[in-house]
Amino acid sequence: MDAEIIAIGSELLLGVTIDTNSAYLARQLAAAGVNVYRKTVIGDNAKRIEQAVREALDRADLVICTGGLGPTLDDVTREAVAAAFDRPLEFHQELLDQIAARFAAMNRPMSESNRRQAYVPAGARVIPNPRGTAPAFLVEDARGTVIVLPGVPSEMRYLFETAVIPYLREERGITTVILVRTLHAVGLGESVIGERIADLMQQANPSVGISAKRARYELRIGARAESQAEAEALIAQTEAIIRERLGQYLLGAEELPVVVARLLRERNLTLALYEGIIQAPVLHALLATPEIEQRLRGVEIHPLDRPADEQAASDLAAAGASTVADHWQSDLALGVQPASILNEQGFTAVAFALVTPNGERRLTRPFDLRSAEGREFIGTAALDLLRRYLAEEPE
Ligand code: ATP
Ligand code: MG
Repeated sequence: MDAEIIAIGSELLLGVTIDTNSAYLARQLAAAGVNVYRKTVIGDNAKRIEQAVREALDRADLVICTGGLGPTLDDVTREAVAAAFDRPLEFHQELLDQIAARFAAMNRPMSESNRRQAYVPAGARVIPNPRGTAPAFLVEDARGTVIVLPGVPSEMRYLFETAVIPYLREERGITTVILVRTLHAVGLGESVIGERIADLMQQANPSVGISAKRARYELRIGARAESQAEAEALIAQTEAIIRERLGQYLLGAEELPVVVARLLRERNLTLALYEGIIQAPVLHALLATPEIEQRLRGVEIHPLDRPADEQAASDLAAAGASTVADHWQSDLALGVQPASILNEQGFTAVAFALVTPNGERRLTRPFDLRSAEGREFIGTAALDLLRRYLAEEPE
């Protein structure tokens, strides 16, 4: 079954309210095994809502709308959906009685405008809303089914769970399970990862997607099956292929700082840091996990004296690392030192040195030091240098 979501409300288009309802519905539908192919956000305009509903019905079997069911004249979802089905609105006395009873229970007078909420499109099935005044409803014809839920997030969720899910299971025979597994990768460019798993990214089930953040990659494997076990087996197969293709660049289910923290703990090693960048991106990256903090013996931030060339920066990184290792008696030490010259893109060569009991490792790469975002890449590179050393067999 293919579904679309339509979030209705001018406040959503103005960016005043964040459309969390669509995100919730998308997650819930995916978990129920319903494919969501499109989400639309539309203002409180009857003509445009009608048009959006008609178009969605042309493409999808199920359309879920939220919002615009309130009592005021700018809440026009009822009228718009009725128009999309070429039907009039129909008055339901029992709905008006329920709304009146709700106001009576709250000891508040019901306003005349609340009568509007007692109307639903002719032939629609009413979904009572014990959490609010606006009833939800379901309308269908040969094109498909439209379910309209209120915009208030707590009411929308309540009705989705208590009415829409049972409808999908009992009347639409939905039994599918969708499982998503997230894997983390680091150290390769997004395009390189994309090339290595291009074929997997084309397949529909399991599906594979990548998102990137500062040289850290999240790969999501999504599998759809008729049982949990089947979905897990599908994911395991694809995960094995990804492991083989990405090799040492694939971290697994843990994020980079978590892997580093675990390896430091497992190998019972301590760390010191010498960092020649005042904003200390490597320190920030290390502190992302409190467990690394416990392994950190000392830190020296030294923002001055950037050497002109790469070689001098690399030597300074190594010398700085050795100094802090001696000073704090740590097993390992990281040194990070940028050079002062910029390349044509305005990038700076940054040298890394990892001092270990078995010798020293160095790496120099250009980074954009001007923005916080650019500096975050430095934290990733340093943590990855450390991770690769820690992941090797102890000598
Ligand atoms: P009711 O008449 O019961 O209040 P309604 O269907 O008229 O419900 P709206 O008037 O559209 O709902 O919105 C009610 C509240 O819910 C507003 O505070 C609005 O900002 C919020 N809301 C509406 N749509 C969304 C959405 N898609 N995501 C998050 N919040 C939403
Ligand atoms: Mg509204």
